[in-house]
Amino acid sequence: MALIVHKYGGTSMGSAERIRNVAKRVAKWARAGHQMVVVPSAMSGETNRLLGLAKELAPSRTSDAYHRELDMLAATGEQASSALLAIALQAEGMASVSYAGWQVPIRTDNSYTKARIESIEDTRVRADLDAGRVVIVTGFQGVDAEGNITTLGRGGSDTSAVAVAAALKASECLIYTDVDGVYTTDPRVVPEARRLHTISFEEMLEMASMGSKVLQIRSVEFAGKYKVPLRVLSSFTAWDIDIKEEAKSGTLITFEEDEHMEQAIVSGIAFNRDEAKISVLGVPDTPGIAYQILGAVADANIDVDVIIQNVSKDGKTDFSFTVNRGDYARAIEILKERVIPKLGAHEVTGDAKICKVSIVGIGMRSHVGIASKMFRCLSEEGINIQMISTSEIKTSVVIDEKYMELAVRALHKAFDLEQVPA
Ligand code: ASP
Ligand code: MG
Repeated sequence: MALIVHKYGGTSMGSAERIRNVAKRVAKWARAGHQMVVVPSAMSGETNRLLGLAKELAPSRTSDAYHRELDMLAATGEQASSALLAIALQAEGMASVSYAGWQVPIRTDNSYTKARIESIEDTRVRADLDAGRVVIVTGFQGVDAEGNITTLGRGGSDTSAVAVAAALKASECLIYTDVDGVYTTDPRVVPEARRLHTISFEEMLEMASMGSKVLQIRSVEFAGKYKVPLRVLSSFTAWDIDIKEEAKSGTLITFEEDEHMEQAIVSGIAFNRDEAKISVLGVPDTPGIAYQILGAVADANIDVDVIIQNVSKDGKTDFSFTVNRGDYARAIEILKERVIPKLGAHEVTGDAKICKVSIVGIGMRSHVGIASKMFRCLSEEGINIQMISTSEIKTSVVIDEKYMELAVRALHKAFDLEQVPA
């Protein structure tokens, strides 16, 4: 008998019929002898609907008081889906109880709409499990030290599930979603993309931070920190498929490198269209320049990704970096107004039509020539590389957005990702 956490996304909880299916699946696991904790998202569309109503009433509020009410509001989505699931389980003849975040409690800091989990009390949940009940814990929400309801950011139910699994030392956390696992790349771009049976947690972290939307990145960080075995799998298989088969399906996110059975050097290709490039030209090459440019951008709460500073010529240098496309206009404005005049830099230029394509694989640690293989592949396609950044297990390039699909397809092929490695 094991303690298992299931998490169901909004699509899986999308209607009474689907909730009934979730209940049947969970009941199957409980009847197989497992202690079950389930963390549901709100029914699909519900969080957007609620936040949309708030926006209608107050289009541009930013105060803390307003954000507090947003959390109060958005948290109801998960409260409803959790209660409905408990009701459906009871109707299946399973004893079941649901708890809102504050009832567990799941304690968070007080940053409304993007709170971080600080601790989870397990006494109440354990007592129910020991009494033979299936416990449903709302995703996405917690409570701060003053008793205010908080939420964890969009997609936060993934993080709730992993955190609950960590607190209860669950044997595995299964994330049921509308795709059947993690793929070598987005199958909409490369139809030959292959589902990975396993991926290391570090690779998953790189994939998630670079646009693979399967898991909220914070949930992956959490899983890494607390070593929670995580599996991403489909909730659209028949609920009564053989439980042993189901337990092996999807993609397992592993921690042991030698458990990484597939042994491919590159495991996946990630891409992100959501970036823009900014260059500050002709800045004096003196101490504090990077700080003055990027500090001003960071003060505006704008995240910076790839950064390049050129070698200087005649005491001047060029400085380029990428930001989220949504922050592009504001970043340019800040630089023009505050940084350029102070630094006496030449000009600010930018390009919002770029994208970032990355190859990810822990095998890159122990193999040389992987990056150059990537560059050769892109050059054979005639694709110009504008920026490059690397980490131990990833190489990213910034290229013109219009070549993104071509680049992803060519790289997927060059690294034999359609093939299952022998
Ligand atoms: N319901 C929340 C959202 O839509 C949290 C989640 O689904 O993970 O973002
Ligand atoms: Mg999600």
